[in-house]
Amino acid sequence: MNILMLGAPGSGKGSQSELIVKDYGLVQISTGDLLRQAVSNQTKEGILANSYMSKGELVPDELVMGMLSLRMNKPDCRKGVIFDGFPRNVKQAEMLDKILAEDGKKIDIVINIGSPFGVLKERLMARRLCDKCGKGYNMISNPPKSKTCDCGGNIITRSDDNDEVIKNRLEVYLSSTKPLIEYYKKKGVLADIDGNRKIPVIYGDIKELINKAGNR
Ligand code: AMP
Repeated sequence: MNILMLGAPGSGKGSQSELIVKDYGLVQISTGDLLRQAVSNQTKEGILANSYMSKGELVPDELVMGMLSLRMNKPDCRKGVIFDGFPRNVKQAEMLDKILAEDGKKIDIVINIGSPFGVLKERLMARRLCDKCGKGYNMISNPPKSKTCDCGGNIITRSDDNDEVIKNRLEVYLSSTKPLIEYYKKKGVLADIDGNRKIPVIYGDIKELINKAGNR
């Protein structure tokens, strides 16, 4: 099964994806994580990507699609993938449909997590990340148990989780990513979820949707 997590930055796509991974044994692919990895490895792609990411702009489609295809070709993706933060525009969605169709696959369910922008801004400012395992935390709703992550890594703030860049990321969401709601609605695979609730409550609804989609 292939699941796609849609929603503005801070809507909780990553947190919910982590829970789905544990229960359903699917692989989570976050293009944001792949890009951050490239940035930290200082690869040619990473250096280019960082010039967009630091401003909250979308990284060019060709660069993202190249990284995504490489990841999707790994054998662990055979059972199914949770696409987290990808696609970010209609062009990417069309390319993903094409890649999947070549393999006789498709997106089975799109989970669209909605929250008011005021809440998203607050969440993004409180968001933290482990620099070793990538686990996400939130200083308000999901704080770490101690000063370090369970894995021993340092808990850091993402460089693009600051006031000015957050504003631009939310604007980019509205202009480029939000049209995907209509795109997937037309395909009959979109499910809306109220993301302004506690993580386990949201996950309860998501599980129900996944189980239903699995039985279709
Ligand atoms: P995220 O971790 O999903 O919030 O992504 C962080 C940043 O990486 C975004 O603000 C973009 O600059 C870039 N990015 C992540 N995914 C994509 C994508 N699918 N297409 C273009 N840029 C992306």
